[in-house]
Amino acid sequence: MIALTYLQNGIESTRREKIIRLLLESTSPLSVKDIAIFLGIDPRNSKLIYEDLMHIAKSVRRRHKGRNLLMLPPMCSNCGYIFKEMKRLKTPSRCPRCKSEQILPPRFIIK
Ligand SMILES: [Zn+2]
Repeated sequence: MIALTYLQNGIESTRREKIIRLLLESTSPLSVKDIAIFLGIDPRNSKLIYEDLMHIAKSVRRRHKGRNLLMLPPMCSNCGYIFKEMKRLKTPSRCPRCKSEQILPPRFIIK
């Protein structure tokens, strides 16, 4: 018998390793949707990837000396408003300045 919690952790850590490798090797910052496509993950599971990114942000400095997970913040594609202060990692639904719902998602890279 295998403990399922162990199996679950194994799957999660493998996915995180893949995300770290992808963001280390990428030459331009990637959105969560890009990450999902690269890794063959259903983009509807983007919540999982955001959780992984939060985890990676904390662990990457320890595991890859001097490297950090960097984020290009979300931006309103209508007026250019930049969401600098975010309570949660995700794409905001609407611009506080012009009320547009066309928001470019945050993008990530490890440098
Ligand atoms: Zn706007």
